[in-house]
Amino acid sequence: MIAPRVLIPRDEIKKTVLRLAREIRRDLSGTNPLFICILKGSVVFAADLVRAVNMPLELDFLCLSSYGCGTETSGRVKMRLGIRQSLVGRHVVVLEDIVDTGLTVNYLMAYLKRKRPAGLRLCALLDKPSRRRVPVDIDYLGLTVPDRFIVGYGIDWNQNYRYLPDICYIEDEGNG
Ligand code: 5GP
Repeated sequence: MIAPRVLIPRDEIKKTVLRLAREIRRDLSGTNPLFICILKGSVVFAADLVRAVNMPLELDFLCLSSYGCGTETSGRVKMRLGIRQSLVGRHVVVLEDIVDTGLTVNYLMAYLKRKRPAGLRLCALLDKPSRRRVPVDIDYLGLTVPDRFIVGYGIDWNQNYRYLPDICYIEDEGNG
């Protein structure tokens, strides 16, 4: 196993989540927003964020995949579990772990927009702008990271390392 190296320690993650929660509360308190957590990588982030937001809201889950077993996106996004409830008139906040090429979020926001929510916002814990292939508007951004393969804090490599409390990175052949 490759030893992951710490990129963002848990204290900094905590501060970032609290800041994002304040921004969301400022904009959406009193609207009973629907937070949509993108499985599986955003689960730990979502669990911390909803408790930091600490106001009435609902939580739902959506499962997409664009990665096989490697560290490069396949570019093809598949919906594995969609949203069954109506979004009409709802204020929706999508919780995403990492925006990388932007292809996943681009596909996802278009899918959710067709469901006619009153508002649709994107909250991303991490952004890798150097890898962007399509433009993405991030309403609530945690931290910008370099072009490294990230693991930990819910984010995996081949289903490993989700349990790490810090945000870490691993090297692979194509990644320096
Ligand atoms: P995109 O479609 O923007 O290229 O990729 C978005 C998805 O790819 C993210 O939701 C995340 O699941 C995955 N991803 C992007 N960068 C990384 C990374 O550095 N590590 C891991 N484990 N997943 C990543």
